[in-house]
Amino acid sequence: MTDSSGKRAPQTIAIDGPAAAGKSSVARRVADRLGYLVFDTGVLYRAATLLSLRHGVSNDDAGALAQVIEEHTIDVVARPGSETGYAVLIDGADVSEAIRSPQVASSVSPVSAHAEVRHALMPPQRRIAARGRVVMVGRDIGTVILPDADLKIYLDASAEARARRRFRERLSRGEPADFEEILETVQARDAVDAGRAVAPLRAAADAVVVNTDDCDLDGVVEHILALVDRWPDRLTTGGGRAPCGAPLPETGAGSLGEGRT
Ligand code: C5P
Repeated sequence: MTDSSGKRAPQTIAIDGPAAAGKSSVARRVADRLGYLVFDTGVLYRAATLLSLRHGVSNDDAGALAQVIEEHTIDVVARPGSETGYAVLIDGADVSEAIRSPQVASSVSPVSAHAEVRHALMPPQRRIAARGRVVMVGRDIGTVILPDADLKIYLDASAEARARRRFRERLSRGEPADFEEILETVQARDAVDAGRAVAPLRAAADAVVVNTDDCDLDGVVEHILALVDRWPDRLTTGGGRAPCGAPLPETGAGSLGEGRT
């Protein structure tokens, strides 16, 4: 439970939040700085969705979706030097690119809304977290998958700020991008993720809610590392709001669910 300087450090860090809040990039950089593994759980749901598209399974058919997941092997393996640091495999074949297609993006939320699908994808998530020293990214890590995570961060940003980031990312990769369309997709995914009956997207009561509207990637990473550094104080274990770009409350400040919207 201690880092190289002998200080206690959180072993499991959960980062949840809505689509395009920057969770993956932030988690990767935070994990690199701490020497932790990063595990982006969205890839499991994306791989399951790709399977459903390839096998012509309807988004509404929970039983058939769970069956197709169980009939195939979804795996995440380290791939040092790649953009994400890992590759996603279905039955041993690399699908890291295919799971980022627009077709997968528009079907993944309805597929993820089924309890049967979430149940089928739970064991690999818990197995990886059990090793410790992990930053785990998702929608329900702090609420369902790892309710006892040491540090829970809920990264938030307005839909416009998130769509703007996605838009710029696509342009920088030389891909076609339409801001209004991206904004609509982000809002539609938010609505499905937050409105589903099973494991809806929401901040855990003991999560630190970090709004990132006023920060760039470097700013958010430093902000989270500052939270890691002061763990386990009242804010980082009991929850509260700590917007990026604003000074952190005094150590010891913050309370359960303080200032939640
Ligand atoms: O994070 P990413 O955009 O890759 O996630 C894709 C989708 O997978 C989300 O919109 C959500 O519907 C689903 N998901 C989920 N629970 C997670 C991670 C992702 O429901 N832990």
